[in-house]
Amino acid sequence: MRHDLNLYKEPFELIRQGRKTVELRLNDEKRQKIRAQDLIFFHRTDEEYSVLKCRVQRIRTFPDFKELYLCYDPVSMGYREDETADSADMLAYYRQEDIDRYGAMAIEIEYLDDLYLTDGHMHMEYGDLSEEYVMRFVDAAVARGLDEIDILDHTHRFREFECCYEHLRKYEEQDTWLKQKTKFCNTLDDYYGLIEKLRKKDLPIRVKFGLEVCYSTDTEEMLRKILKDVHLDFLTGAIHSIDSILYDMPFSMKLFEGKKDIETINREFYEAELSLVRSGLFDRLAHPDQIRICGPYDDARLMDMYERLSSALKTADMYAENNTGIHYRYGHDSIGLGENLLQVFRDHDVRMICASDAHKPEHVGTDIYEATLRNRGRYERQSI
Ligand SMILES: [Zn+2]
Ligand SMILES: [Zn+2]
Repeated sequence: MRHDLNLYKEPFELIRQGRKTVELRLNDEKRQKIRAQDLIFFHRTDEEYSVLKCRVQRIRTFPDFKELYLCYDPVSMGYREDETADSADMLAYYRQEDIDRYGAMAIEIEYLDDLYLTDGHMHMEYGDLSEEYVMRFVDAAVARGLDEIDILDHTHRFREFECCYEHLRKYEEQDTWLKQKTKFCNTLDDYYGLIEKLRKKDLPIRVKFGLEVCYSTDTEEMLRKILKDVHLDFLTGAIHSIDSILYDMPFSMKLFEGKKDIETINREFYEAELSLVRSGLFDRLAHPDQIRICGPYDDARLMDMYERLSSALKTADMYAENNTGIHYRYGHDSIGLGENLLQVFRDHDVRMICASDAHKPEHVGTDIYEATLRNRGRYERQSI
């Protein structure tokens, strides 16, 4: 069985270094479920996607922390050699009345690795909002060794957001696309109902539910009004149009002809992303350099935009996706973010999350392992 627990940065690093081998907790109902050989995923409190995977070696319970402290070496509990271990230190975490009620637990752990594989972006767009369909994504993720998946259908699935797409209808091709039966076919209540059912299930991995919100400066205030009543695990903002033209659809790309050159399109895309990030509406930025699929792309002329985007993401404390869809869906060379933008994100210490943009279960987890290593600067492409 898997357990997800939060842990402060200092003890987190001590476990990673192999110094701390015993975790101390209250022996409450939640912790009583932990057994020897179970897996514990420790999420760092200030960065939930920094995760240590540990295996439980042994569980010991005590009437209180005083008794527990007598049985363990202070360093194994997370103290430095020059520190005095005092069981009263645990009062910083737990109230005395709770300790009296539940007692203390020592979890002896073995640290395994820090490679938490998340696929933070996938769509149920081509299926119904049913438990069975979600489980196909979960099963695919388990088969690929993922630890978490995040489901986020587009806002154009939900009737509540229909008003935010009116500006795209002035072009016939786009109006036809918006009239497809997969658009505005559900309500958010349908989605909430599904989520509620899944929350009751004992899932083998962590599953989060959010939305991929099509953002444009013209619709920002409309979105703000709708989103204030939306309560999901996360919201991912995405730029899919520039000046009301969908840049990522084969039927609409030609609408730019005679209107804008590619350099203007590229720069306006990043300007739109800056507005998205500064709007304060979102937790994550979807596919930050997806505009590369549009045509000739010159990194060197966009470095100033990369810097501005990184600073804005950092200020907003948002995640940027490293979205591998650009590689396996659009045939682009890099596995996710372009090398220069990825480097600027890393230099600015921007939070990043890997994502496949899977539109069917078979694509869940595609290239996520490689993207995770790339985020850490650890991936060397194999030459063929
Ligand atoms: Zn998208
Ligand atoms: Zn998507």
